[in-house]
Amino acid sequence: MRYCSQCGSAVQMRVPVGDNRPRYVCPSCGTVHYQNPKMVVGCLPEWRERLLLCRRAIEPRYGLWTLPAGFMEQGETLQEGAARETLEEAGAQVAIGDLYTLFNLPHIDQVYLLFRSRLLNLDFAPGTESLEVALFSEQDMPWMDIAFPVVRETLRLYFRDRSQGGFGLHSGDIVRASGGLVRRYRIALR
Ligand SMILES: [Zn+2]
Repeated sequence: MRYCSQCGSAVQMRVPVGDNRPRYVCPSCGTVHYQNPKMVVGCLPEWRERLLLCRRAIEPRYGLWTLPAGFMEQGETLQEGAARETLEEAGAQVAIGDLYTLFNLPHIDQVYLLFRSRLLNLDFAPGTESLEVALFSEQDMPWMDIAFPVVRETLRLYFRDRSQGGFGLHSGDIVRASGGLVRRYRIALR
């Protein structure tokens, strides 16, 4: 952030009086611009034995597969956000079910909340953020081309739970472990 959204002055990074961490503060109007983590909501759309995935038409991870998910909007519930993102990215209508995974991603200031869901029909089509949308069974999951660790871990848990005959809520942390050429992540489930 460079300029104050209230008055247009250049902001400064400093610890406000009574606070304990640096914030963007406007020296002209005094507004403190707090920045807080974003919630990413999405779902695992089920159709019989298969799951619907989207191939990304945008960076990051262009061309790789992911579950429909995106930033929650103001004024909506988690479930409404998950259904909206699924409609936007996959043109798919779903009935949102139980919360399935909740992951903290503190290195990018995001919290992921992914729900199980039931695809209501097969009238899906890629939205502007997707190159293609397709149903995958466990055997033909594109494991090598999954866009994000949080999605790969959620899919891994899903197929493990399904083989064991029951789905529970899973929560944990996914933290980038090193900054080398190959990104590594530490995944800790609770
Ligand atoms: Zn200002």
